[in-house]
Amino acid sequence: MRFQATVMKLHNFNSGPSILPQPVLDQASIAIHDFNNTGLSILEIGHRTSHFQEVLNNAIASVKRLMQLDDQYEVLFLHGGATTQFMQVPMNLLDEDKTAAYCDNGIWGNKAIKEASLFGNVVVAGSSADKNHTYIPKDLQYPDSASYLHITTNNTVEGTQWHQYPITNIPLVADMSSDIFSRPVDFKKFSLIYAGAQKNMGSAGVNMLVIKKDILGNLQRRIPTIMNYQKHIEAGSLMNTPPVFAVYVSMLTLKWIEEEGGLVEMGQRSSERASLLYNTLDSLPLFKTYVAKEDRSEMNAVFFIEDENLQNQFLDECKQAGFIGVKGYRTVGGIRVSMYNALPMSSVLAMTDLLKSFAAKHG
Ligand SMILES: *Cc1c(COP(=O)(O)O)cnc(C)c1O
Repeated sequence: MRFQATVMKLHNFNSGPSILPQPVLDQASIAIHDFNNTGLSILEIGHRTSHFQEVLNNAIASVKRLMQLDDQYEVLFLHGGATTQFMQVPMNLLDEDKTAAYCDNGIWGNKAIKEASLFGNVVVAGSSADKNHTYIPKDLQYPDSASYLHITTNNTVEGTQWHQYPITNIPLVADMSSDIFSRPVDFKKFSLIYAGAQKNMGSAGVNMLVIKKDILGNLQRRIPTIMNYQKHIEAGSLMNTPPVFAVYVSMLTLKWIEEEGGLVEMGQRSSERASLLYNTLDSLPLFKTYVAKEDRSEMNAVFFIEDENLQNQFLDECKQAGFIGVKGYRTVGGIRVSMYNALPMSSVLAMTDLLKSFAAKHG
């Protein structure tokens, strides 16, 4: 049975879960009915079958190729969202009498700090809280003895992004949930990377983790088995039933990224989308951008119209035009346009057309 995807002219600027490539949706639809001609749905196959093992192996192999990782690194697909990792990272890496360094650059990093402080000491290595997290602090300070330094590479809510990672002698840990695989990165700089899949690499319910093995096993704490990275590595991400469908969608999305030309191509598309949008915003005084120019995110652009009535009118017009997900995060307000890997340039063009015509009427 073939599923005919509905063709609707929506422009999906959702911040997450967010737009996925059409070939991924098509393939996933087919697999719901009949996975690889097995006569079973992907939702019905056993997670210890060779069929699923192949899905998992292919997903891991794609990650290793895209990130150019060597054998020092392990790739895991684990349950939960990035929020689970806010807890699981310090549980595995931070002893009670030790200190971890965290950057306080936004709402997600903030939540990570809160969880880490349940397990050990936390020092804030750099904060942009003084200006509502509208920039990335570059001058970080923390003790050399810190167990690791944690950053959020892209601040999904505030619309800032690290364009140059901190240079450090201690293990670097990153929440890359909202800019994973959006550009080439020297991933070997990191000792641990985690990303919830639903922004740039799949559907909700699974985390991808990349772990440099030498950071594990140095802890006094006893770690519950299901939370223990080392045990998950030994079990090859199959300690218990993994989120089979979410792993499958990640595998398809990773394959799509590779087929489209990999991270160089993704990076080019990200830059093109972001330049078009920010250049348009900068040319229209009606719209106020919010963050330091050099720290602007290529994934999430946040901006305002000072007159709130007019801003609401703009949001209404977005709705009428079929633009989904452009209302700013509840604590920040304003307008947020998310431009993940699968967003076509035509959607950004449609947005900039509306920005220009709206400004011409009301500017
Ligand atoms: C969305 C997001 C999270 C939270 O992800 P959940 O899957 O909802 O737990 C954490 N960090 C960043 C950077 C995010 O964008």
